[in-house]
Amino acid sequence: ILLDTGIAPDAMQTHEKGLMEAFPIIKFSEENKLEKQLALVNVKPEDIKAVVISHLHLDHIGQAGIFKDLRTPIFVQKKELEYALLMLWQGKGGAYDYSDLAPLRGANWIPIADEKFEIAEGVIAEFTGGHTPGHQVLHVTTEAGNTYILTGDYLHLVKEMEIEAKGWLLGDAEEWHTYIRKLKYLVSKPKTKLVAGHDVNLWNTYPKAPKALE
Ligand SMILES: [Zn+2]
Repeated sequence: ILLDTGIAPDAMQTHEKGLMEAFPIIKFSEENKLEKQLALVNVKPEDIKAVVISHLHLDHIGQAGIFKDLRTPIFVQKKELEYALLMLWQGKGGAYDYSDLAPLRGANWIPIADEKFEIAEGVIAEFTGGHTPGHQVLHVTTEAGNTYILTGDYLHLVKEMEIEAKGWLLGDAEEWHTYIRKLKYLVSKPKTKLVAGHDVNLWNTYPKAPKALE
């Protein structure tokens, strides 16, 4: 099961100019391609049984095209799909880009509208909203009995949870503040840890492929 698919390698050329000025790609090399990252853990795209998308921003849906022809189920909150298309149709994508989504028309989307949905045993997608209208996080419980909450962009940084604030990347404050105390409670439980979406400090403390969290 794969959570999110990174940014399109050619986004600087194919995506809206204004969007790429706001979120330029600083570094992208061959090793950052999805197939190369999967290969580090000895997995091929066709081995992936399900793709879960936290939300449809450019840096989370960029390389999902690989899974269209493979007919891999792509789980997304229905609300996220609706909102992204609503914005793009009005010509104001924000951090959504038409060139990411247009090629995915007809992919094996599985829209979910449940608060929680069990993708597989020990892997649960949970709606949060907050960052975007249909944002979801993933709870993963390993064979060792540890639970990791992969936050996508609900939290970019762990610091956001500590200070209970998100700054300009906040979509819906009411939704975000409804979930944050729940997340804090969940993380306070034994054997429970966060994997925040963009936190370099946290990233530096975790093992890198082919090593894995246990
Ligand atoms: Zn985002």
